[in-house]
Amino acid sequence: MDVDNPAPRGGGEPPRIRRLEESVVNRIAAGEVIQRPSSAVKELVENSIDAGASAVSVTVKDGGLKLIQVSDDGHGIRFEDLPILCERHTTSKLSAYEDLQTITSMGFRGEALASMTYVGHVTVTTITEGQLHGYRVSYRDGVMENDPKPCAAVKGTQVMVENLFYNMVARRKTLQNSNDDYPKIVDFISRFAVHHINVNFSCRKHGSNRADVHSASTSSRIDAIRNVYGASVVRDLMEIEVSDENAVDEIFRMDGFISNANYVAKKTTMILFINDRLVDCTSLKRAIEFVYSAILPQASKPFIYMSINLPPEHVDVNIHPTKKEVSLLNQERIIEMIKDAIEEKLMNCNTTRIFQTQAVNTSALTQASTQKEKGTEVNTPTGAKSQKIPSQMVRTDPRDPSGRLHTYWHGQSSNLEKKSDLVSVRNVVRSRRNPKDAGDLSSRHELLTEIDTNLHSGLLDIVKNCTYVGVADEVFALIQHNTRLYLVNVVNVSKELMYQQALCRFGNFNAIQLSEPAPLRELMMMALKDDESISDENDKEKLEIAEVNTEILKENAEMINEYFSIHIDQSGNLTRLPVVLDQYTPDMDRLPEFALTLGNDVTWDVERDCFRTAAAAIGNFYALHPPILPNPSGNGIQLYKKNKDCMASGERDNDSTNTDEDEIDQELLAEAEAAWAQREWTIQHVLFPSMRLFLKPPKSMATDGTFVQVLS
Ligand code: ADP
Ligand code: MG
Repeated sequence: MDVDNPAPRGGGEPPRIRRLEESVVNRIAAGEVIQRPSSAVKELVENSIDAGASAVSVTVKDGGLKLIQVSDDGHGIRFEDLPILCERHTTSKLSAYEDLQTITSMGFRGEALASMTYVGHVTVTTITEGQLHGYRVSYRDGVMENDPKPCAAVKGTQVMVENLFYNMVARRKTLQNSNDDYPKIVDFISRFAVHHINVNFSCRKHGSNRADVHSASTSSRIDAIRNVYGASVVRDLMEIEVSDENAVDEIFRMDGFISNANYVAKKTTMILFINDRLVDCTSLKRAIEFVYSAILPQASKPFIYMSINLPPEHVDVNIHPTKKEVSLLNQERIIEMIKDAIEEKLMNCNTTRIFQTQAVNTSALTQASTQKEKGTEVNTPTGAKSQKIPSQMVRTDPRDPSGRLHTYWHGQSSNLEKKSDLVSVRNVVRSRRNPKDAGDLSSRHELLTEIDTNLHSGLLDIVKNCTYVGVADEVFALIQHNTRLYLVNVVNVSKELMYQQALCRFGNFNAIQLSEPAPLRELMMMALKDDESISDENDKEKLEIAEVNTEILKENAEMINEYFSIHIDQSGNLTRLPVVLDQYTPDMDRLPEFALTLGNDVTWDVERDCFRTAAAAIGNFYALHPPILPNPSGNGIQLYKKNKDCMASGERDNDSTNTDEDEIDQELLAEAEAAWAQREWTIQHVLFPSMRLFLKPPKSMATDGTFVQVLS
């Protein structure tokens, strides 16, 4: 057998192991360091900054595939270093491994330039101080192609990379097919310009005389941001600073700018420098996005510029070949501190806005009610028209969409609710942080203390630090915490969260206004109809129950309104409900049951019991139950056949495929699909972020099947 040919697969002798040629090894490694044109630009610009440049200009052709040219006015490169400049692992920045602990330059691996010569053609022109002329030399595969040629040069270094990936066909193809790398390059330069405010950056396409980034050196960060991202961004930014107060000598410092509630953008901009290195830190970014979405649910994604400084020995810069991700000592604690600082900043900056919106809301409410009396459509505060009020009362047949309660509902509550998000979140946070400040009834305090005493700290850690994975079935969601996966009963946790929120926001709720007063008596009758313990013939008894309970609620209406913002008018109609969680309205299909529970199961005469049972009733109503319409996915679709009996009893001769489709009640199906999709969205974007901020999981949840570990 020919030794140079590997053995055929699956048969006979194993293939020979051979040493790869060095050039192949180098090319493979180079492809890792220089993944795309923008990574080459980043390395080159970092070299310029390391060289102490005060001006760096970048020119790019064909998204960097044809040409990348980076010129600086830094200290230049010595003539005698030019022969080894582009060999692998040659650097002026590191000599012993220990130096890595204290390194402050951006480069240290001595790999960037070398890598570029393995995957492109590199030409360097450089002059050092005091020289009459500079030198120019080209490199390929780590070595000089010719002796350095003397040439005229201005201060500093110019590195030109041509035909990147000329020898990596697949890479070149994907890059050509994918979007041009130029926007990424512009993005990098913009970020550098915001951080290195004493350096002039410019970035342009080859042949264009207009620079896409052009920053003038300045002494103010905010000017730098304005310069690059524009005045409209700067208008909505706030300065932020945190440092480690507890430490004897300060070891952690963060300063930066973050967007406020007025800022609007679809994507997060996160410019993060750790010890002056441009890096990504996914967990920090995620944590910040959570704070924003929880505190300003209506606001957009944030703009963040953040510079973190730590002792160099606390940052492991060597976990990623391009140094893109770094790992920090005490990362969790640092993230927590930053999160808290942002939370506080967002709360405080919105004080003025909050009082404005409050004023708007009161007038909107009165306006709404006067208009309603005229029997016309109700205008919401923003002028959007709400739905016409249906005249017919509600039916609860889940298969009949026309009479279902939430058709009353869409579109009216949200404006009132949205506008006051800040007020209520602020109240919650205030009382959460400073319980004594809330100064109210002792029973409520006892119940809040009870929640604290019952807190399971292990579960709290899970809730605070978990990653949401997805919904597992109709009741459970899957989350990950460290290396473990857990199933979480969404109904149970949301019920508890709503209960706790009802007590926290006690007396401080925003209101959801119903488009049409809902008569309690009829709501209760509907709920009783579903109650199998009372026989159907006994309508008189049901009426009596409904009557008595309505009277009880009417008698206590004032208190119910003051404490829980559940408004019941003189004639026994429900007109308003509380906002228990911002951005969330309960499933109106459950309103009848809620009305009955309020009347029947809440103890209205003993204060403490009253608060507990009322909060529990609210918790149950607002919990994320599965929608009443069954889940149509999978076999569930069968439930949406219009007439199942007819299918079974024959007429098989008909074109069966067509019939099948026609038999599905499309309208109902669409509604069910929407309800389930909406629920899934709410679980991910409302429930879990709020749980992270607010839920105090009780000990019972560790054993009652609410949290179940599935596997490691
Ligand atoms: P590293 O930055 O990790 O040291 P590089 O391959 O990026 O490795 O660069 C190798 C060396 O070349 C650097 O250590 C530096 O001494 C020199 N060098 C590269 N670019 C420049 C530049 N623009 N100005 C001055 N010196 C440079
Ligand atoms: Mg470098």
